[in-house]
Amino acid sequence: MKSLNPAFAGLGTTIFTVMSALAVEHGAINLGQGFPDEDGPLDIREAAARALIDGPNQYPPMAGVPALRQAVAAHDRRFYGLDYDWASETLVTSGATEALTAALFALLSPGDEAVVIEPLYDCYVPIIRAAGAVPVPVRLQPPDWRLPAGELAAAFGPRTKLLVLNTPMNPTGKVFTAAELGLIADLLRARDAYALCDEVYEHLVFSGAGHLPLAGLDGMRERCIRVGSAGKTFSLTGWKVGYLSGPAALIGTVAKAHQFLTFTTPPGLQIGVAAGLAKDDSYFTGLAAGLEAKRDRLRAGLRAVGFQTLPVDGSYFVTADVRGVGPDLPDDDYCRWLTATIGVAAVPVSAFYMADDPPRHLIRFCFCKRDEVLDAAVERLRRGLQTAA
Ligand code: PMP
Ligand code: GLN
Repeated sequence: MKSLNPAFAGLGTTIFTVMSALAVEHGAINLGQGFPDEDGPLDIREAAARALIDGPNQYPPMAGVPALRQAVAAHDRRFYGLDYDWASETLVTSGATEALTAALFALLSPGDEAVVIEPLYDCYVPIIRAAGAVPVPVRLQPPDWRLPAGELAAAFGPRTKLLVLNTPMNPTGKVFTAAELGLIADLLRARDAYALCDEVYEHLVFSGAGHLPLAGLDGMRERCIRVGSAGKTFSLTGWKVGYLSGPAALIGTVAKAHQFLTFTTPPGLQIGVAAGLAKDDSYFTGLAAGLEAKRDRLRAGLRAVGFQTLPVDGSYFVTADVRGVGPDLPDDDYCRWLTATIGVAAVPVSAFYMADDPPRHLIRFCFCKRDEVLDAAVERLRRGLQTAA
């Protein structure tokens, strides 16, 4: 039999699915896969439910229902002062995953290079490879996850077509600084490259700090595609509604890829998300403040049971250093042990690396859970680690 596409044939199932299944098997509290355990605002769900009953229920416009595209453009103007024409510079997709896939397929040609920053979200590299392009990793070093300027510059070459930038970043919770974004902008300019900006955690930034899109820097609007997700912004991860904004010259071609990936996204859900994006500022600040309190709660609990935690300024996730706490195991085995024996699921950070030799002492916990769930997880850790000691 002929071999299948190596971009996919050699892959395992995503670590999120694997750990969630293991959590179910062992009755563990699931702090692995990133999803909130409380659904997002009722009014958004009601708007979608009404649209399911009243319609429209047939194919919506390929680029998305106008109400949502207008809401995306208004959102980008309100929060970042970015001016996009809703009709030609926004696009609705089935989740950020489809947005990223469509953008990578649209921008990359075989032989192009795509700079990616490790640790990285798991869908980037297979899609880059499926497009025939070559991922070029730059590695951030724990515990502070600083961007190494020299290594980043060295990763850019004449074949660099784009950089994938994820800020706030999964799994680290890093929020790229203005200085780091400036450095990236200089390299994009010098190499005439694009940036695919995965900003799904844009509203989950802590300490009152706002999100800074790369597209807002001088000269970057024309080079950047921004990706957002209603899953994260409205705690509705199962809806898989994503959106992109960028210059018409780029979005037009991304739409060509989108038309053959999914073509459209359920119209009722789009109508619900349009209502969400129009919410008052207080919704967005409340979301960040609520998650910040959860970060603090879980982080304090993890520290109290002996873990060192790494800095986290945004996203759903806190990373713990497992060295010296419980058995001496590499991160993936440690997560299996933690799930099966202690009853708390986490995700090994080594799963977020494409190259050999990832760090093996870090595990990621998700904190977008009810307080009592976080407390119960910490209590299981406290008891289990005491017994294991
Ligand atoms: N990018 C990052 C960094 C993510 O963490 C996720 C999480 N699910 C996605 C993209 C995909 O988002 P969606 O569920 O909207 O496809
Ligand atoms: N983004 C989520 C995480 O990092 C999970 C997404 C998925 O399960 N594909 O946990």
